[in-house]
Amino acid sequence: MKIGVLAIQGDFFEHIAILSKLGVDSQEVRLPAELEGLDGLIIPGGESTTLSRLMSMYNLREPVAQMAQHHKTVWGTCAGMIMMAHEITEEDPIPLQLMDIGVQRNAFGRQVDSFEQDLEITQFNSPPFHAIFIRAPVIIRVGDGVQVLAELPDGRPVAVQQGNLLVTSFHPELTNDTRFHQYFLDLAATQATGPD
Ligand code: GLN
Repeated sequence: MKIGVLAIQGDFFEHIAILSKLGVDSQEVRLPAELEGLDGLIIPGGESTTLSRLMSMYNLREPVAQMAQHHKTVWGTCAGMIMMAHEITEEDPIPLQLMDIGVQRNAFGRQVDSFEQDLEITQFNSPPFHAIFIRAPVIIRVGDGVQVLAELPDGRPVAVQQGNLLVTSFHPELTNDTRFHQYFLDLAATQATGPD
């Protein structure tokens, strides 16, 4: 199994460190050719407007969309989630429109730019997942085929899945809890044996 991590901007190194802790080979992706032969892709957190521009410059939009359409597992965290949305509340960045969700950037205002929250995630056994939110987006529309994995105490979804596609508003790569990465890898393994 080989997992790509988009490495043009943001906290890609932390994802790679967790993947290597889990014994998984990873590939830093900066060029379209580096997507070939991968079983899954992580789009990390960072700054989505920059990510959006760089993905256009590096001609990565189309091949990443192809990967998602060919049932490869793709996971976006924070800015990566913004990029995977169908629509966002602003004109910039331009999302990849991979998932049937609507997203609002910087949804928590200045006073609570960053916060931490324990989340109950039904797919995981206890304890709750300690989630770190940094200038985080929130999901404001969830399409029919989209499953909510975690929500804030006020009911706003912050982790959702649509088949082979996964997004989280928060940063599992900044914790020592590997359960989200393991969940992503299990999904990638299932998709690898499914249709191409
Ligand atoms: N606020 C950032 C954006 O809008 C996302 C922050 C993050 O990825 N931690 O792109």
